Amino acid sequence: MYFMGQVTPAIIATWSFGLKAAEAGMRVLKAKGSALDAVEEAVKAVENDLSIRSVGLGGYPNMLGDVELDASIMDGSTLRAGAVAAVKNVKNPISLARKVMELTPHVMLVGEGACMFARLIGLEHRMPLQPEAEKAWREYIVRVMHSRPEKGTLEFWAKYIHELRSHDTIGVVAIDGNGNVAAGCSTSGLAFKMPGRVGDSPIIGSGIYADNLAGGASATGLGEDIMRFCVTRMVVEYMYRGMSAQEAADAAIDFILKRDGNAKHIAVVALDARGRPGASTTYDTFEYAFMGADMDKPVLRSINRLK
Ligand code: ASP
Repeated sequence: MYFMGQVTPAIIATWSFGLKAAEAGMRVLKAKGSALDAVEEAVKAVENDLSIRSVGLGGYPNMLGDVELDASIMDGSTLRAGAVAAVKNVKNPISLARKVMELTPHVMLVGEGACMFARLIGLEHRMPLQPEAEKAWREYIVRVMHSRPEKGTLEFWAKYIHELRSHDTIGVVAIDGNGNVAAGCSTSGLAFKMPGRVGDSPIIGSGIYADNLAGGASATGLGEDIMRFCVTRMVVEYMYRGMSAQEAADAAIDFILKRDGNAKHIAVVALDARGRPGASTTYDTFEYAFMGADMDKPVLRSINRLK
C-alpha cells in the first residue's frame, strides 16, 4: 500500500557540506518549488563552492591534472533521469545532467560527447585548477611517480588511489508538498583517479534513485563498492515493500556487510514517500544534513557505528 497523504516538504543531503545544500534546496521547497528544482539548487550550492575538493570545478583532478566530473538527477514523479560522466569544463554538472534528461532522448552522456553538449547549450565553463588542488596533485605525482619509480605503473596507481580514499559526493533527496520525490548527486570522484574512471554517482540505481511511490535515495563512498550493489535501487526496493527510509537504509547496509565485509566505504541517505529521513553506512562514522519545512535551519546528524 503506497502513501498518498499530505507531505511536509523535506530534504536530506550527504556530509557536512550537505548543510549548505539542504538550506539552498529548502529555499526552493518553501517557495512551493518542485522537488526536482530543489535538488538541482541544493547540488549547485555545493558545486559552486570552489573550496570543496570533491565536488565541482574546485575538486581534485585526475592523474593527468584534469578535473573530470560525474552527476545525475532523477525525477520520481516520471521516473525520468539524466546523467553525465567524465565531463570537463562544466561548473554545474547537475544542471547538465538535468538537460540530458529534458532535452535529449538519452539518460546518460559521457566524456567528449557530454562536453560537446555542454558547449552547445551554454554550460561550458573554463577555469584553471584551483591552486590548492593543483599543489596537492603535483605533490601526489612527485610522491607516487618519482620517489617510488618502481611503483609507477598503472596497476599500482589504481591500487594506490583506492588506499588514498579522497573523495565525497554531494547527494541529495527532496520531497515537495505534492509528494514528488527527486534525487541528485555530483562529484569529482576519486582524487587523482585514472582518466575515464567513473564511480557510482552518475549510474542510476547506484548513485541515486527516486520514485514517488516509495521514496528516494542517494549514495556516497567508494564508487567501486557502491556500484556493485546498486545501493540506491536496493534502498528504494525495500521502501517499495513498505519499509521506512531508516529501515530500508539499514536493511541495505546490513545486506552489503553480510555479503562483503570489506565494503567499508558506503553511506546512503534516503527519504520515504512520507518525507521521513533515513541514513546508514558501512563507514565507522558518517554525517548528513536534514531539514523539514517546519524547521528554521538544517541539522547535521552523525552516525557512529563504533559506539
Ligand atoms: N561515490 C563517489 C565516487 O566513487 C565518491 C564519493 O561519494 O565519495 O566517485
